[in-house]
Amino acid sequence: MAKIFCIANQKGGVGKTTTAVNLAAGLANLKKRVLLVDLDPQGNATMGAGINKGELKSSVYEVLLGMGDLKTARTHSETGHFDVLPSNRELAGAEVEMVELDQREQRLKIALSIVKDEYDFILIDCPPALSMLTLNGLCAAHGVIIPMQCEYYALEGLSDLVNTIKIVHAKMNPDLQVIGLLRVMFDPRMMLSQQVSTQLEKHFGDKVFKTIIPRNVRLAEAPSYGVPGVIFDAAAKGAQAYVEFGKELVARLEKQ
Ligand code: ATP
Ligand code: MG
Repeated sequence: MAKIFCIANQKGGVGKTTTAVNLAAGLANLKKRVLLVDLDPQGNATMGAGINKGELKSSVYEVLLGMGDLKTARTHSETGHFDVLPSNRELAGAEVEMVELDQREQRLKIALSIVKDEYDFILIDCPPALSMLTLNGLCAAHGVIIPMQCEYYALEGLSDLVNTIKIVHAKMNPDLQVIGLLRVMFDPRMMLSQQVSTQLEKHFGDKVFKTIIPRNVRLAEAPSYGVPGVIFDAAAKGAQAYVEFGKELVARLEKQ
């Protein structure tokens, strides 16, 4: 049965999608069966996996609203070698439309239950908000991976996210836990990066992944080619760090 992880942080542009796409490709490279769920109307994970969000016949939107099934909506990333439940801007309407539905925060969990035996990992790329879509992700998952930039404001937002995770754990999903914090877009030349990084280790101890993802332009270039960074330029420092992160995650889960 699949381990289901949300990649979440309500702050925008912190590297959620880059982490989701590259972790998916990294795990696929380790011969793991992976489904990447794009839960963001921006559709960045969809595009980053090489799937044209403008040409979808069916998407996560239909799945959440009960208008289509997951097996029809899912597609395959030829460049990343994993399956994708894609998304596009249609999903923006789902927040409002779901208000009238029963068990509205459990829609994704129910949909995934049909396919979870087909995968080793299901990764959910969340939008930059603590919204009904993110709540669906948190209710469906066993754990949360939190990518963060090592800057002052990153810590401020972190407490809101950790509180939300605690509430969801207590009231809606007892399986949910923080798997770990991943330091991304790291610039070792910046004193502040070093300081925040040390502070994170002090506060969160083992919950901070050992692997650090450096700022690396090849990771930023890859999405425009629809190829995950770890495949686009496997020798680049950023790509190697994401491959390493995949291995660290697998090892951490085996220890549990
Ligand atoms: P949003 O909140 O809008 O969904 P996000 O948290 O998913 O954003 P990304 O889209 O992954 O963040 O990254 C934001 C930008 O930073 C993108 O242009 C991406 O290519 C770039 N980026 C992400 N990680 C790195 C990195 N390690 N090095 C260089 N650029 C990066
Ligand atoms: Mg994103």
